[in-house]
Amino acid sequence: MFITYEEFAQRADGIRARIDSACRTAGRATGTIELLAVTKTHPAAAVEYAAKYGLCGVGENRVQEGIEKRAQVAATIRWELIGHLQTNKAKLAATHFDRIQSVDREKLLNQLDRAATEANRILPILLQINAGNDPAKFGADLADAPRLLETALLKKNLRVDGLMTIAPLGVDAATTADHAARTFNTLRGLRDDLAARFGVALRELSMGMTGDLEIAVATGSTLVRVGTALYGARDVTAATAG
Ligand SMILES: *Cc1c(COP(=O)(O)O)cnc(C)c1O
Repeated sequence: MFITYEEFAQRADGIRARIDSACRTAGRATGTIELLAVTKTHPAAAVEYAAKYGLCGVGENRVQEGIEKRAQVAATIRWELIGHLQTNKAKLAATHFDRIQSVDREKLLNQLDRAATEANRILPILLQINAGNDPAKFGADLADAPRLLETALLKKNLRVDGLMTIAPLGVDAATTADHAARTFNTLRGLRDDLAARFGVALRELSMGMTGDLEIAVATGSTLVRVGTALYGARDVTAATAG
């Protein structure tokens, strides 16, 4: 049995409180950080709950799963792709998602721009950066970020909203927290450098999940992607990205 809406709302209230509290600690204005509900592996009801609660977006990891779920949902909400995107699925992703957060290579930029042009739309994207230098994570290397952004800014049908990253896990809680702080600070520093160098805002910093959202808020996140704390644990066999 999936959770009820009341359970969901209670959990969402709790996460909002965590975000607000982290904002106050960091001296940031409350209400400025978006909560993206990560609905991967969960039923369409998860999306309906998020919309009913008033969240503006949901995150999905897999193109096919997102498309199938979207067809079952009547509510209006923004659908974001946050999982690794294969080049051969770029066209599908560009036509079925409202924003793609996992753009990490030039070939993908080319495919997405072509698809967006054919669909006669402007596709918002984030550039995913492997700011924690984690061999297990997707995302462009830090050193390649300027070139990737330069290419992205030349694509007429893409709009670069900002950057996204996932922090590497550590061997224990303290190491994980330390990795998260360093990864998020690195992403923020990169954003500030790139914004100045290219004269663009790159407003969005998508960083922070269930386990590290306070650290993300402290380091400048504008959007946290939360799954487990909203919907409970996922079936790990169904949770692989792709
Ligand atoms: C699954 C996922 C999340 C959500 O993680 P939780 O720990 O369940 O909050 C956030 N971002 C990405 C990219 C994910 O794949």
